[in-house]
Amino acid sequence: MRFRYEILLCKHELVLYYVTIEDTYDVIKRAHIATSHGGRDRMIKETAKKYANISREALELFISYCEECQKKRKRPVTKGVVVQPILTDGFSSRGQVDLNDMQSMAQGSYKWIMVYQDHLTKFCVLRPLSSKRAAEVAHHLTDIFLLFGPPYILQ
Ligand SMILES: [Zn+2]
Repeated sequence: MRFRYEILLCKHELVLYYVTIEDTYDVIKRAHIATSHGGRDRMIKETAKKYANISREALELFISYCEECQKKRKRPVTKGVVVQPILTDGFSSRGQVDLNDMQSMAQGSYKWIMVYQDHLTKFCVLRPLSSKRAAEVAHHLTDIFLLFGPPYILQ
């Protein structure tokens, strides 16, 4: 019996409140002050103790408008420059095609250089093109694929 009671107590402590849209600002502000201008993750921890529906976006928005937090953060925000490396698991699993514009240095009728590169091995094949029409590109790609097989992914 005692055991069951404890479980109930435990559950009772886990009650979370849904905040109405009108109260959201005040709840976030209180949490922000309670964490002494805490960052997003600390705010998430703080609000998640009591509230069920304070979103990460709302917290980020609040912090982005807090003057004191913006003063503290001096370095410019450089978002979106993190390059995720693409992992490849074998030869011909990923091939990449690029067209280099050589129109200013045309050699006879050839104005483009097509570069096909295997992503893993960096093995590359160059082809001169007179145009960047799909038919011409496809013709050369087919030729390359007949030489050592098509890639699983072509980018
Ligand atoms: Zn702040």
